[in-house]
Amino acid sequence: MPHTPYPDSYYAASANAAPIREHLNEAVETDVCVIGAGYTGLSTALFLLEQGYRVVVLEAARVGFGASGRNGGQIVNSYSRDIDTVERSAGPDAAQLIGAMAFEGGRIIRERVARYGIDCDLKNGGVFAAFNARQMHHLEAQKALWERYGYDQLELLDRSGIRNVVACERYCGGMLDHGGGHIHPLNLALGEAAAVESLGGSIYEQSPATRIDRGQSPCVHTAHGRVSAKFVVVAGNAYLGGLVPELAAKSMPCGTQVIATEPLGDELAASLLPQDYCVEDCNYLLDYFRLSADKRLIYGGGVVYGARDPADIDSIIRAKMLKTFPQLHGIRTEFAWTGNFLLTLSRLPQVGRIGDNIYYSQGCSGHGVTYTHLAGKILAEALRGQAERFDAFAGLPHYPFPGGQRFSAPLSALGALYYSLRDRLGF
Ligand SMILES: Cc1cc2nc3c(=O)[nH]c(=O)nc-3n(C[C@H](O)[C@H](O)[C@H](O)COP(=O)(O)OP(=O)(O)OC[C@H]3O[C@@H](n4cnc5c(N)ncnc54)[C@H](O)[C@@H]3O)c2cc1C
Repeated sequence: MPHTPYPDSYYAASANAAPIREHLNEAVETDVCVIGAGYTGLSTALFLLEQGYRVVVLEAARVGFGASGRNGGQIVNSYSRDIDTVERSAGPDAAQLIGAMAFEGGRIIRERVARYGIDCDLKNGGVFAAFNARQMHHLEAQKALWERYGYDQLELLDRSGIRNVVACERYCGGMLDHGGGHIHPLNLALGEAAAVESLGGSIYEQSPATRIDRGQSPCVHTAHGRVSAKFVVVAGNAYLGGLVPELAAKSMPCGTQVIATEPLGDELAASLLPQDYCVEDCNYLLDYFRLSADKRLIYGGGVVYGARDPADIDSIIRAKMLKTFPQLHGIRTEFAWTGNFLLTLSRLPQVGRIGDNIYYSQGCSGHGVTYTHLAGKILAEALRGQAERFDAFAGLPHYPFPGGQRFSAPLSALGALYYSLRDRLGF
């Protein structure tokens, strides 16, 4: 069976050696069948294997083929909407639990990297960059909020402070998260997959789940095989399609695009980001960037609602990069790619059960590198019967996008236009 190639990204071009795994071509039986080998699926599989469960992972294409192998690589704490939104939409007990978990995903990543010796260029430090006083006030409030949940890794930066970490004249200040950081995202996924296999888990690539027989003993079918399991974990996120119709109804796949320049050389790279921190700005439609291990600038931004591939990624993202770093005129772009994340209306993750034995987590709405690692832990806890933390997320309310399937993308784009205008005009 021909293997689906990874998108033509810098990450695929610099990936660590990894096996090409066979597709499933038999009937197997296991404790847990995980659908999707992104961070959610791999993290769940690892936590379960560490507890002695038997696990089979089915991946439609290759390990890390989805957002987990294409993202900006930024370890950003908390969720796409912050804990104050959770406080407003969940009860106080659930908010307390979810708030306390907001900083756990980054710790899980670091623990995984250390325990399994994963080579993924892990660096510490992430910056939130503010364009105006309104955004700076927001960062001050965010610092106070995170501190209320016991997090003490934040440092506010004034105009000269941010100049010391980002050579961009557009920011009036920012906030450094010492517990943020960055990684080579595909190599993290490949390392986690190797860890899954080292603990006896099986991963089948080129094996899209085509049907789930629900009921007392669920069975997941692929084109050439099937997996009978006590539990199924659905972790296909924005690439899941219509496999589980209930999950498609309240979420929308969206595209975001990334470019990587040619290597900049040590001097130019250090002049842009002297401490090698990653950066995201505070706009609603934000730009995010960082250096790779070989000193390229990796720059992402923009959202395409409904996840159509834009015609010319380089010209769209390059214009954003040059606005931030005009110093890079004349530097070539060597890679440009797109990837899909899953948006929910609340921008908080969707977590839950279908019946007694099908579990899911999806929809972290663009900030998922840390949350997906936490998701693996709370899914594994729930399968073991300790569902308090899982249920805190599962209780968050979720609504369909206005306009239904047909108009949800244009209406969301309109909403985003409003917020981006607000960012540009500063109101
Ligand atoms: C371009 C881009 C940049 C981003 N940058 C950042 C960032 O810097 N920081 C951050 O925190 N977040 C970022 N995100 C979000 C983050 O990458 C995602 O939230 C996270 O990777 C989602 O992981 P996942 O495992 O849930 O989904 P995915 O990584 O998308 O994995 C889902 C997997 O399931 C497989 N699959 C789907 N359907 C089936 C099926 N039927 N059978 C078998 N397998 C199936 C897919 O092939 C895929 O491999 C970014 C996202 C994108 C797209």
